Amino acid sequence: MTEQELFDRSIPEPNTGCWLWLGNGTARDGRARYRGQHVGRLFFGLTDPDQHALHHCDQPVCVNPEHMYVGDQVQNMADMSRRKRARRHVGNRFNTRLTPETVKAIRSDPRTQREIAAEYGVAQTTISHCLTRRTWKDCQ
Ligand SMILES: [Zn+2]
Repeated sequence: MTEQELFDRSIPEPNTGCWLWLGNGTARDGRARYRGQHVGRLFFGLTDPDQHALHHCDQPVCVNPEHMYVGDQVQNMADMSRRKRARRHVGNRFNTRLTPETVKAIRSDPRTQREIAAEYGVAQTTISHCLTRRTWKDCQ
């Protein structure tokens, strides 16, 4: 595979700069890795099957060589869990503190959403979503 083929089979994502892969190899993990090795061979001259082209970005189907770096499976796993932790931390700042117990309490709480939100240290929208069952749907 050449760089041109790689580019032709992917869509550039304007916000992130990712190239989203359209060709074969996204369906199953094994084949996605195969693609990763393709990219690795092409751009980093990788020949060792234990070496992978890993992502800086959060997009598993991204094939933009600028978003990739070389690492082994151990680094891959460490990197994934670090990214997940980081994402949880940043993305769910207001959404991590509720538990099934607090959800139950919130739903039977007669106070205003604002007061409840202040009590639990979450955003008012978190309470609103909880009360309208946009979140915690399965909770009684
Ligand atoms: Zn990317």
